[in-house]
Amino acid sequence: MQKIGIIGGGQLGRMLVEAAKNLGFYTVVLDPTPNGPAAQVADKEIIGDFKDASKIKEVADQVDFVTFEIESANADALNDLVGEGKDINPHPKILETIKDKYLQKKFLEKNGIPVADSVEVSDEEEIKKAGTVFGYPFLLKARKDAYDGRGNALIKNEIDIKDGIVKLKDRTLYVEKFVPFVKELAVVVGRSKNGEVKVFPAVETIHKNNICHIVISPAPVKKDITQKAEELATKIIADFKGVGVFAVEMFLTEKNELVINEIAPRVHNSGHHTIEGNKTSQFEQHIRAITGMPLGDTGHTAPFSVMINILGERSGEVKLEGEEKLNEIKGATMHIYGKSETRPERKMGHITVVGDDLIEVLEKARLARSIISI
Ligand code: AMP
Repeated sequence: MQKIGIIGGGQLGRMLVEAAKNLGFYTVVLDPTPNGPAAQVADKEIIGDFKDASKIKEVADQVDFVTFEIESANADALNDLVGEGKDINPHPKILETIKDKYLQKKFLEKNGIPVADSVEVSDEEEIKKAGTVFGYPFLLKARKDAYDGRGNALIKNEIDIKDGIVKLKDRTLYVEKFVPFVKELAVVVGRSKNGEVKVFPAVETIHKNNICHIVISPAPVKKDITQKAEELATKIIADFKGVGVFAVEMFLTEKNELVINEIAPRVHNSGHHTIEGNKTSQFEQHIRAITGMPLGDTGHTAPFSVMINILGERSGEVKLEGEEKLNEIKGATMHIYGKSETRPERKMGHITVVGDDLIEVLEKARLARSIISI
């Protein structure tokens, strides 16, 4: 049986393991937390930090294919292992560019991809200067380890700058011009070992407090816009080495222009609905891509699918309630990630609803979420 090693064992790792098991692979997961979301379903867990080179090597030495679910995995260690002939995808070289949001923006800019203007800043004076050049509001962002909006501060006027610095203290920062978007879109694209590329239909993502809240598939925008979004995402990933699934997040402006926000070299929250909503899920597609299998059909299984995240609302032990009522909502499927502790805004699970009518599907998704507490 061929073996896959996954660096990082959160919910993305869990859903990757589930897909890998369905395709008959043996799975090994590396994560610092024992019995985390992915380890619960994997064949084997190795407990250790995903920045620890010796632990990454321990995984790589016992599998045929290595992949990662987190950008902060130790890129140097992964790179050294590629040098030793290990099969690691996507190529760890791209992590250096992607995990620093500022470097990522400049890389995309250099490749002719439309992104918001940005500038490095190291103190309050430089932030003020950026405000004068870009205008208010703007975003003050942490360059690294900035997941789920935790690294962003919206600066509405000069007075907000001090609070922004406090919020993001001890982190290397940059300033990004505000994009007055009408919608946010995302496109997941997969590329396989033989160069085959398959794009999932563009979706709309709705964020709350900078965290992905709802995903609507397909994006309720005109066909020429989804087509442009899918073409742009396909063009962008051509600039990144290696195979696997990539997620491209973008803003749609009033003038119907697309501005790229961010690239993730991995499966992504904007693709969770594909488990029920598409013929192949983003997780299966990633496993297919990294193991040299042909890519699967990305077409829809139903006219619409809506994913809503189940975020924690309190701190403490998990206590799932309301799930028995979910059976009454036709077309709804719940995924719980198996985390033992809940925290405000922590991603604990998600629900996907599929159906024929978008308004109805959206309503069902909101209703389903409201009856669940965790
Ligand atoms: P990020 O974690 O940087 O991808 O940002 C999280 C969310 O913040 C995005 O999905 C947007 O809703 C918002 N955001 C980030 N950057 C900008 C920007 N330059 N202009 C407007 N909104 C932004």
